[in-house]
Amino acid sequence: MRIIESLEEMHAEAADIAARRAECGFVPTMGALHEGHLSLMERAVAENDVTVASVFVNPTQFMPGEDFDNYPRTWEEDLDAAEQAGVDIIFHPTAEQMYPPRAQTSVLVHTLTQGLCGMSRGQGHFRGVTTVVAKLFNLVRPTRAYFGQKDAQQALVIQRMVIDLNFNIEIIVCPIVREEDGLALSSRNRNIPPEYRDRALALREALVRGRNLIRDGQYDAFQLTNVMQEMVLQDPDIELDYLDIVSPETLEEVERVDDLVLIAGAMKIGGVRLIDNILVGPDGPWSD
Ligand code: AMP
Repeated sequence: MRIIESLEEMHAEAADIAARRAECGFVPTMGALHEGHLSLMERAVAENDVTVASVFVNPTQFMPGEDFDNYPRTWEEDLDAAEQAGVDIIFHPTAEQMYPPRAQTSVLVHTLTQGLCGMSRGQGHFRGVTTVVAKLFNLVRPTRAYFGQKDAQQALVIQRMVIDLNFNIEIIVCPIVREEDGLALSSRNRNIPPEYRDRALALREALVRGRNLIRDGQYDAFQLTNVMQEMVLQDPDIELDYLDIVSPETLEEVERVDDLVLIAGAMKIGGVRLIDNILVGPDGPWSD
């Protein structure tokens, strides 16, 4: 596995891949790799001639007061894990290279970023994400790029950006990988104090409850969100950022579950912010 740390080298490698007419799969990450990341990498390896994964803790997607400094960084372990997954190239640039002095250009997907995490973290979070992903796309020039359904809003925002900015890149969204008890894998899980770990499941349990209620015929979004939010809020140590039922295409809140909906939530426990979601409609699916 090759490690590329300079933009010049990445540009040259991308040109070489293109000259060979090889198909390139790309998995952008912020490192602290876990099985969720590895599932994306393994799929990229299976579907492409060359797989590039980036490890870059992007400062511009962290809002003031968020956990940029405490974000887990496990570079040596990440190298081993990516190599095991079959990744060919790890791209690991510095923030100084990625953001030249006096940079003043950004990419913002306007409407899809207004609700959910855009409301609780601010649209600036997604501005940071789309800006860095657009830059990474220009550097890596992939055929396909792989994102996780865990960050459902992010995946949708990236899909919109790719269409709107005419990137010739196929976006592939991969299923959420979970711990045995159902907690969605996240780099931030490492930061959950052990005494809070069990209660970190509250959001997942509320989402599953919502899905079960839909299976039982409750389609009223207001009733459903009330039940789910109350479940999470029973624990005074949990701060619920949001728990909404939205259209999986527009992310606008729905009144009734007439079709497939995205039930998405974010909460903080023990100083760690966690997100999760479920896609479900009147005909299921009833498990994930
Ligand atoms: P991150 O390093 O958190 O920026 O995540 C990099 C990519 O991995 C994103 O596309 C995430 O959606 C994806 N990802 C993170 N956690 C999971 C998970 N539990 N299952 C599937 N994909 C995930």
